Amino acid sequence: MKFETKAVREGIVPDPTTGSIVPPIYQTATYVLERVGKDKGFDYTRSSNPTRATLEANLAALEGGTYGLSFASGMSAVDAVLKLLAPGDHVISVDDVYGGVSRLFDQIISTYGVEFTYVDMTDTKNIEAAIRPNTKMIWLETPTNPLVKITDLAAVNEIAKANNLLTAVDSTFATPYLLRPLELGIDIVVHSTTKYLSGHNQIIGGAVITNNEEIHQKLKFVQKSIGAVSSPFDCWLTLLGIKTLALRMEKHSDNGMAIAKFLDAHPKVERVMYPGLPSHKLHEVAKRQMKRFGGMMSFELKGGLAAGEKLMNSVKLCALAESLGAVETMITHPASMTHASVPVETRRARGLTDGLVRLSVGIEAVEDIIADLEQALAQV
Ligand SMILES: *Cc1c(COP(=O)(O)O)cnc(C)c1O
Repeated sequence: MKFETKAVREGIVPDPTTGSIVPPIYQTATYVLERVGKDKGFDYTRSSNPTRATLEANLAALEGGTYGLSFASGMSAVDAVLKLLAPGDHVISVDDVYGGVSRLFDQIISTYGVEFTYVDMTDTKNIEAAIRPNTKMIWLETPTNPLVKITDLAAVNEIAKANNLLTAVDSTFATPYLLRPLELGIDIVVHSTTKYLSGHNQIIGGAVITNNEEIHQKLKFVQKSIGAVSSPFDCWLTLLGIKTLALRMEKHSDNGMAIAKFLDAHPKVERVMYPGLPSHKLHEVAKRQMKRFGGMMSFELKGGLAAGEKLMNSVKLCALAESLGAVETMITHPASMTHASVPVETRRARGLTDGLVRLSVGIEAVEDIIADLEQALAQV
């Protein structure tokens, strides 16, 4: 089956009692046994739930994977994967990692004795140079947040296999429509389903997908033991969103490309970071490993902090909001919003300059988004 067909059909069977084409929301905590030791495959919703199982099967199929698990948030999905490690283990992480993930690594997981090294993975030699005897895992995103950096997954896979390391990719920005890391040899794929997969700013959710049965069994045990599972209603809303994922990603990619070109030509914009532009450092790698380039981009305003704030206060259609990957275009200014609490020096060292703006391009008419950006840029 092709991706578009899987998105609509895979794992989704008509309800056996009524024929309902949309799987019901099994809003139940527990299940009645026929007798001791004989259930119908479900015993308690923290362990398993039919609505969640439908979503998990669908997510696995979209990634070309065997096993899927659905979590209460992207963060709890990341946390579950890190629980594969033990005190003394070392992780090599991409430097431009999602802010919430670096907070989890540095302020929570590291207090349990797991060590982290952050490297620029646009050059995979930096990964090799960071390997230590206790290194167990390579953690990365591609594209990254907010600098939209790309990492060559085939190259990472080679390094990992040669050194017996686990690989985990947070593929939230790309979605399985644009990129399927498991097909490139990556062990574990993580998503914040809050973003493109559900797609309409309607839930908080996360997912982990793998082909490795041993990893899956460990993660399933973590999921049931800790209990950060997604609710049946959230699973149902996510399934509804996924049905149009292919259509949405095509439109996000069309709009993304057009807006990147518009910004690139604008006199008040210093530079645009979008993997679809030939000026992007890893454009060729992105072209090779991704189907299209999606809707996420960052751009640098010439006027720094004041220009960034002015732009934020001048947009009308673009929503000033700290999320991404939904149908509405959303705009953020890291220096005054998501990263305002990070010391200026640290921010600059990471490339998060004062004039940096992140745009999550929605599926509105591209003319309307451009008109809004144009009038806002005129105020800057
Ligand atoms: C949003 C996001 C997360 C965290 O997911 P939540 O659903 O907000 O918990 C992790 N990684 C990336 C890349 C994200 O964009």
